[in-house]
Amino acid sequence: MAPIVSIQNLTKSYASGFQALKGVSLDIEEGEILALLGPNGAGKTTMISIICGIVMPSGGRVTVAGHDVVKDFRATREIIGLVPQELTLDAFETVFNTVAFSRGLHGKKPDPAMIERILRDLSLWDKKDTMLRQLSGGMRRRVLIAKALSYEPKVLFLDEPTAGVDVALRKDMWQLVERLRASGVTIILTTHYIEEAEEIADRIGVINKGEILLVEEKAALMQKLGRKTLTVELA
Ligand code: ATP
Repeated sequence: MAPIVSIQNLTKSYASGFQALKGVSLDIEEGEILALLGPNGAGKTTMISIICGIVMPSGGRVTVAGHDVVKDFRATREIIGLVPQELTLDAFETVFNTVAFSRGLHGKKPDPAMIERILRDLSLWDKKDTMLRQLSGGMRRRVLIAKALSYEPKVLFLDEPTAGVDVALRKDMWQLVERLRASGVTIILTTHYIEEAEEIADRIGVINKGEILLVEEKAALMQKLGRKTLTVELA
């Protein structure tokens, strides 16, 4: 089967001349969970932003479900869900409206029952009429996830979804990722936490200084390293 996301020789030089991606190639299979691990400045957000059509690549090609993300942006926009790192939300809107509008913006018919399901799933239902400015950072992060899920994406990108969030939300997030995969969604997440990659990913990719250093099945990686877990040894 063709990969759902195919990245071929992707490069990105910002206007400053800084080369954030130096020829990244990677295929992502439908239904898998891929964790991209890398330090600050490795190029993770740049790569995700290009795939999601927010940043233009300098070279190379990305397709999602066979559609070129640059040439056929409209088609990929409805397939891809992005949970960005920054809490980019309208402070004066309610939780319910934020999520419902997001569905409309992606060309889907209103479906209040579905929005309710998503909000209940993310423990946001009792906050549905609350304005976003009144929510904690962790709750706003849940709203970002609900927004991305509102239009039923096939591929979901989570850019450091658990950076700076408490243990409870981190565990909730891991369970949610597992449930989404069970429903057929392909998930790519970036993280600084090796335990997170180990907990939820099928494959782990390591990115540094704009290059993919390694992509391995989690089990194969552990075997190669001769470890039962990645976390304990590296902690
Ligand atoms: P983090 O884990 O800190 O989010 P990251 O792996 O997501 O890091 P990117 O945000 O993709 O890394 O950044 C990669 C490099 O590109 C960094 O050195 C960053 O400073 C640089 N960069 C990102 N955006 C721009 C921009 N708009 N203009 C110039 N340089 C940029």
